[in-house]
Amino acid sequence: MNNYQHILLAADFSEHGLTVAKKAQHLAHQHQAKLSIIHIIDNLPITDTTYGPIIPFDMDLNDLLMTAAKNKLAELSKTLNIPEQQQHLEMGSASLEITNIAEENNVDLIILGSHGRHGLALLLGSTANSVLHHAKCDVLAVRLQDN
Ligand code: AMP
Repeated sequence: MNNYQHILLAADFSEHGLTVAKKAQHLAHQHQAKLSIIHIIDNLPITDTTYGPIIPFDMDLNDLLMTAAKNKLAELSKTLNIPEQQQHLEMGSASLEITNIAEENNVDLIILGSHGRHGLALLLGSTANSVLHHAKCDVLAVRLQDN
């Protein structure tokens, strides 16, 4: 079996996130692979067109969220020794952005948690499930405990 060349860690900063991150770091080391990281800021309800024009597009709030997420991403990347050019911060649908960035960057393994902030009640989280179905490369869902 060939070694993986480029691993993408999907980080949602949930309480089990570090378990997933350590696994990604370990595998990247074992395979001598490049390790990149991605975090997606979920689509904000405030930009949801369902509510029509009553709620304005709040640029300041988006900027604040972006800055906070950037800091979190930089912090986790530092513990994993991931350089800035391999840190991806996107806004939108998590599964869509994960699979898009993976394809654009020739990632051959995506690593995520079996569930995160959304999927506690499911066998496999909604993001994990969707990435498994849509990714063109291998996907490793790290089994996380339900508590
Ligand atoms: P979920 O399906 O939301 O329960 O999450 C399953 C896994 O997908 C998490 O453990 C993360 O590895 C990844 N994930 C979920 N949401 C995001 C996000 N917004 N950004 C990056 N990765 C995510």
